Amino acid sequence: MKALLDQYPFTQAANFTPAGRTTATLIVIHTMEAPEKPGTARGVADWFGGKRGAAPKASAHFCVGPDEVIQCVRLDDVAWHAPGANRSGIGIEHTGFAAQTVEQWNDEGSNATLQRSARLCAELMRETNIAPGRLTPDQIKANMSGICGHIDVTHAFPDEGHGHTDPGPNFPWDRYLALVAEELGKLAAG
Ligand SMILES: [Zn+2]
Repeated sequence: MKALLDQYPFTQAANFTPAGRTTATLIVIHTMEAPEKPGTARGVADWFGGKRGAAPKASAHFCVGPDEVIQCVRLDDVAWHAPGANRSGIGIEHTGFAAQTVEQWNDEGSNATLQRSARLCAELMRETNIAPGRLTPDQIKANMSGICGHIDVTHAFPDEGHGHTDPGPNFPWDRYLALVAEELGKLAAG
């Protein structure tokens, strides 16, 4: 999983578990609960890195916003984003809120963020062979390969997390997975 390490700007998160892992099987989608505007992804990456006061006891591999993608934890290492699934997972934080409406997930900021994220997901899937379909909580528990929301990990491991429900009921999964498939196609075509 080394090929991707230098692809995006990197701001090391303060809290993560050095793991030396050689593979991952799950991509976990989160919302930052912060506005979809330029600078937010960098701001959250700086927060994870302890540059804005005490670092939180949390981290993710990537922060994605409408303007940029910042990597915060190396893929070899375990980020602290979805208890129960951290060891096998790649966590991606997105600008925006879990409470967004269907319309809000289709505004300019969301569409730019989702497009960047879909490209990143396709790159990660190509790198790791993670499958491009959304997993159910039972499939997550069975260690199947795929993509899911933080809420699906919460349902899979209800005793481990803190009840997080992001990316929310209106996250446009069908549209997002179609974008990922489109980006996978572009990568395959070179
Ligand atoms: Zn989350």
